[in-house]
Amino acid sequence: MKKFKPKKRLKPEEYIDGVLKGNRVILSRAITIIESNLESDKKLAKEIIQAVLPRSGNSIRIGITGVPGVGKSTFIEAFGKNLVGKGHKVAILSIDPSSQRSKGSILGDKTRMEELANLEGAYIRPSASGDTLGGVANKTGETMLLCEAAGYDVVLIETVGVGQSETAVHGLTDFFLLLMLSGAGDELQGIKKGIMEMADMIVINKADGDNVKKSELAKLQYQNALHIFPQSESGWVPVVSTASSTKNIGIDHVWDKITDYKKLVLENGYFVKNRNYQQIQWMYNNINEELKRLFYASEDIKGHLRVFEKEIVSSKISPVKAAQLLIKEFKNSILKSE
Ligand code: GDP
Repeated sequence: MKKFKPKKRLKPEEYIDGVLKGNRVILSRAITIIESNLESDKKLAKEIIQAVLPRSGNSIRIGITGVPGVGKSTFIEAFGKNLVGKGHKVAILSIDPSSQRSKGSILGDKTRMEELANLEGAYIRPSASGDTLGGVANKTGETMLLCEAAGYDVVLIETVGVGQSETAVHGLTDFFLLLMLSGAGDELQGIKKGIMEMADMIVINKADGDNVKKSELAKLQYQNALHIFPQSESGWVPVVSTASSTKNIGIDHVWDKITDYKKLVLENGYFVKNRNYQQIQWMYNNINEELKRLFYASEDIKGHLRVFEKEIVSSKISPVKAAQLLIKEFKNSILKSE
């Protein structure tokens, strides 16, 4: 086996200065630190995040999802190019849940969004999703903060709309965009109801050529489908539109709607309220995950779990009682170690 040798690291202030100056090479290296699982890197990552935190937050954070093949990368390329053309700096973070184990990423494929990737105003980074949902939120979330501190005023977070990472991305973003195809029936089922419920906007992509009529029909069907959901706390009524990413039709309309949304939620206070809620929730999610990890990693607990499992199936103890005893055992083991 090849011996793992960590790459040379810069000094903390070199990462911090580089990120704040918008240096893309340093930004990439800082993101690598965020993604690293080495203890020394974790410490460094905390220092970098802490330092750039006051300069983060100045972007509109947009989640984009849809099943593979719906045209996410084609859409993002067109959308991103339009935005860069308007003078925006756009960061694109792609989460590919299927790459969790293999570490190889289809989203990281270099041919994706090639034209956009070559623009000075765009920064594309496949985001390591880690092993848990909390990993997605932490790593992608902190990567987003770094991008904002580096001056990106639009952050797009892309996920494949089949996994669970959508919920994590929804918890990180201000606006959630769902890409769909015409030929509704099937797609309505293919995409989970929960994902549709999170959408602030549904875009029926590939509305070109023979598909235009079908797309208009799908638009009506999705508009009806959205009516069954209760009104969102943001006060925003989700919109449905059609677009052709290959022909750059209807793409600017998406930005117009996002701008309308931002205006509304800035005025009614939801923008800040939601951001605050997300930040606080981020902390609680970390507490929950860490407690869970500590519990299952505890040697005292490990020894008892199997025994209790057997006792539960032979009706010697109730599941509730077993859980209570295990938690008690865990508390004692913490007290012992102090
Ligand atoms: P992703 O898997 O969701 O990222 O989808 P891609 O962006 O890779 O697109 C899948 C296929 O659909 C590609 O062959 C694209 O060229 C095609 N495609 C994407 N957007 C459009 C569109 O608006 N119109 C048409 N006709 N084809 C599109």
